[in-house]
Amino acid sequence: MRKNEKYEYMYINFTWIFILIGTFFVITLDYIIQYQNQIYLSTQSKIYFLFLVVAMNFFKKYMLKRSLFYNKFIFYFHRLLEPLFILFSVVFLGFGEWVFILLVFFVLTTTLEKGKKVALLLVGHSFICGFVIQIIKLYLYRDMIDGDYRVNTILSMIFIHIILLLFALLCGKIYTDNYENEQQNKKLFSELASRYDQLALAQEEIKNQNEKLKDTNCKVEDTNKKLLESLAELYTVQQIAQAISSIFDIKELLQHVNDIIIGVMGVNNSTILLFDEIRDKLRIHTTNITKREDLISINDNINCELLMEALNSGNSIIENFADPKEYPFVQNRDINSIICIPLITKSKKFGLVLIEHKYANAFDDNNLRLMNIIGKQVGIALENAELYQKMQVMAMVDSLTGIYNRLYFQDRLKSEFENAKNNKYPLSLAIFDIDHFKKFNDTYGHLFGDKVLTHIALLIKNSLRSGDIVARFGGEEFVILFPRTNLKRAYEKVEHLRKKVEKTIIKDELISASVTISFGVSSYPEFANSEADLLKTADNALYTAKENGRNCIRTP
Ligand code: GH3
Ligand code: MG
Ligand code: MG
Repeated sequence: MRKNEKYEYMYINFTWIFILIGTFFVITLDYIIQYQNQIYLSTQSKIYFLFLVVAMNFFKKYMLKRSLFYNKFIFYFHRLLEPLFILFSVVFLGFGEWVFILLVFFVLTTTLEKGKKVALLLVGHSFICGFVIQIIKLYLYRDMIDGDYRVNTILSMIFIHIILLLFALLCGKIYTDNYENEQQNKKLFSELASRYDQLALAQEEIKNQNEKLKDTNCKVEDTNKKLLESLAELYTVQQIAQAISSIFDIKELLQHVNDIIIGVMGVNNSTILLFDEIRDKLRIHTTNITKREDLISINDNINCELLMEALNSGNSIIENFADPKEYPFVQNRDINSIICIPLITKSKKFGLVLIEHKYANAFDDNNLRLMNIIGKQVGIALENAELYQKMQVMAMVDSLTGIYNRLYFQDRLKSEFENAKNNKYPLSLAIFDIDHFKKFNDTYGHLFGDKVLTHIALLIKNSLRSGDIVARFGGEEFVILFPRTNLKRAYEKVEHLRKKVEKTIIKDELISASVTISFGVSSYPEFANSEADLLKTADNALYTAKENGRNCIRTP
């Protein structure tokens, strides 16, 4: 609603009051009292006029309601007509001048917003209208009006308009000042509003940036956490890799790995179980568990269904609420969480790593992942160790006969000789060679010859005491080392072997044959001072044995 609209409504309401008063006057003066003196117009004209005013008032109200009143044409149409109507009613209906002042005051007040000039023009317009109407009245009713009345009427008209003029000037000034103030206030307010909007926008932006920052912070924290976890994992894996590359003894290695797992995972127990293929059972290899009853409980129950299934399938187990019915090894042991990792490679199942925690829900997928990495590494280490052991055996064992080879023998000869020398023990060495073996091969074939070589080698090996060492020296030539044995004793032993071989019949599906062997025996310190000497004197003795008809023993 415009500010002046309420004054317009007030004005309309006042007009209704005056219409009522006017109607009352017409009825009382014209009909009841039949007051003739003041009646300048016929009653009919008065009623038409009042109707016109009523219509005008309705029209104005309608325009205001429709917000059409402030249309330039309609507004000025009303403003120009209103003083005319008011003056008309004052002059012809007999209303006092106070009615004119009151109503024109309303007209002026509501017009002031158009500016001081318009207000002054309106006063001028009212004055001219008043003057014209008064002149018309004085002329029309010149017989009824005396000279004093004329002068008074004109003077009061001038006087009222001077007051209105002063009022228009004063209020115009106040209004202009107010208007300027208002405009300034409006400007300030709109500036303030725009500042406030800017502030709100900035605040919103800060809030958004804050949210983003928070989001980024969370992400950074998350990444940091993951990075730290990865770093810890990497460190663990590196520690285990280092242990694998530096510790060759598998027992020591598994002990070390077990310690690393306990340290890194912060678990109560870690146990490495190895699979015994011959017994088809898991057995404890390494553990930090020391309590006797716990060890017994684990030992008795590790071959349970779920652990065997993990070993056979190669699938890990993570259980945060271990039920003793499913995992019998946790029974009466205050263990609730377990992880079980198989130690398997493509070629072999080595066993399991079992980690245990007394708290329920102690493990997550990250723990399982790390344990799987460790399990794979340890599996490979076990495979490597086994391969290394095989290679070591292969390096010192003759592939045909399965007894030691010449290389190993020479190492042992060196160390046994040193030993004998340092401890002043005797050391005997015998070389034997199968007699006429070339001919034997020619007769029975090379394959049977191989069988004979193997048979003789094992026969000799099994006939010796544990400290004696037999090796294939090359072709069909073998050596025997007798630590802490003098020549006489060695001779007796060798004679026993020679006879045993002589009596042995070697068979296969088609062939049945026997061979003889010739020995050369020598001894430290009786015939040799060095290991080379010992070998040479024995070899010479063998040569002599061959010279002397074979199947015999000779000494230097
Ligand atoms: P002697 O020692 O009695 O003087 O006669 P010999 O025929 O055994 O002598 P020689 O050293 O000349 O021949 C050795 C033969 O041993 C030659 C070779 O055919 C045979 N021999 C060597 N190594 C092997 C082997 O690994 N398998 C077989 N089957 N025969 C071998
Ligand atoms: Mg030979
Ligand atoms: Mg021979």
